[in-house]
Amino acid sequence: MAERIIYLDHAATTPLDQRVLAAMLPYLSEQPGNPSSIHQLGRAALHAIDDAREAVALVLGCARKELIFTGGGSESDNLAIKGVALAQQQRGRGNHIITSAIEHHAVLHAIEYLEQFGFTSTQLPVDAAGRVRPDDLRAAIRPETVLVSVMYANNEVGTIQPLGELGAICRERGIPFHSDAVQAAGLLPLDVESLNVDLLTLTGHKFYGPKGSGLLYVRHGTPLLPQINGGGQERRRRAGTENVPGIVGLATALTLAEEQRSATVARLRHLRNRLIDGVLATIPRSWLNGDREERLANNANLGFACIESESLLLLLDQQGICASGGSACSSGAIEPSHVLTAMGLHAEAANGSLRFSLGRTTQAEEIEHVLAIIPALINRLRAVVTC
Ligand SMILES: *Cc1c(COP(=O)(O)O)cnc(C)c1O
Repeated sequence: MAERIIYLDHAATTPLDQRVLAAMLPYLSEQPGNPSSIHQLGRAALHAIDDAREAVALVLGCARKELIFTGGGSESDNLAIKGVALAQQQRGRGNHIITSAIEHHAVLHAIEYLEQFGFTSTQLPVDAAGRVRPDDLRAAIRPETVLVSVMYANNEVGTIQPLGELGAICRERGIPFHSDAVQAAGLLPLDVESLNVDLLTLTGHKFYGPKGSGLLYVRHGTPLLPQINGGGQERRRRAGTENVPGIVGLATALTLAEEQRSATVARLRHLRNRLIDGVLATIPRSWLNGDREERLANNANLGFACIESESLLLLLDQQGICASGGSACSSGAIEPSHVLTAMGLHAEAANGSLRFSLGRTTQAEEIEHVLAIIPALINRLRAVVTC
């Protein structure tokens, strides 16, 4: 392993903030209470969850009772989609779900799963920058549409969706609107009123909180069937003893992320632009995937002709640089990213794409170091192929 690690994979996960760890520690040992117990240790745990819920409600601009703590982003997406779809089916409202072609698999596969139970779905296309067109949503809505799910910002290319506009279309027709906002926390505003969302997914480990601790906002009045049955926790919407340290950690991390948001965005955007401009200026036949403006401040998804991103990732890793590929490894075979493919990239271009995602610890000299070594790595890989 290289002596120095340059971590540019914050879209995959972020390190736990020391202040978050400090807030969590008491609930991992000295305060072991179960929030359902009526003795003083139980009440202390319940109190900690109440405070956490209040803090999250403040950031989202919602009521405390509209929040459900979960086991992460995938669970929140599954609860939103299956919970709303099945509740709508139970009420005889219909069986059609609309999503976009570039969603996280936690959304796409949850919808695919529902197709075994009589649901049908429409995947909205995206433009070359990865944006959903509001007119396409309007055209896709049917009388039997019971749920729309479109992410806030994409995890691969960072493209930001026009949620307010999409949400307004859903609201006009009385269709619940869910958004996976996992990548947006700490980088974009999360006020659920301006976003026009009825359900919103977050997960702690994407904003310097703990892994395995997520959140689902559910607007009051939205039909939802629980997907984990058991005890009456979370107002009977998610059974199981609460992950008290995880919940405290998520709330602390979200509060810190929101406090630092505008400063973080300004700093990261500057570093990220330096990375993009540096690569495009020094490496021939390279390009930027996604929108130059409407993208997360920390995301640089870059493509290189005649390169397999897997090979480039290995060489970068040998140099201590952690990034991520534009392809997903499923069942052993490398398949081009469904996101890049939906944006119109050919398989070769998708497989030649790489995601760098910056974060709080990213320093200017780290970006300069990447820019200094990447041209030689590209030349090395291109020297052994003909294209
Ligand atoms: C990471 C991620 C998830 C999954 O969250 P987990 O907490 O890892 O389950 C869902 N959606 C998006 C957009 C993500 O980036």
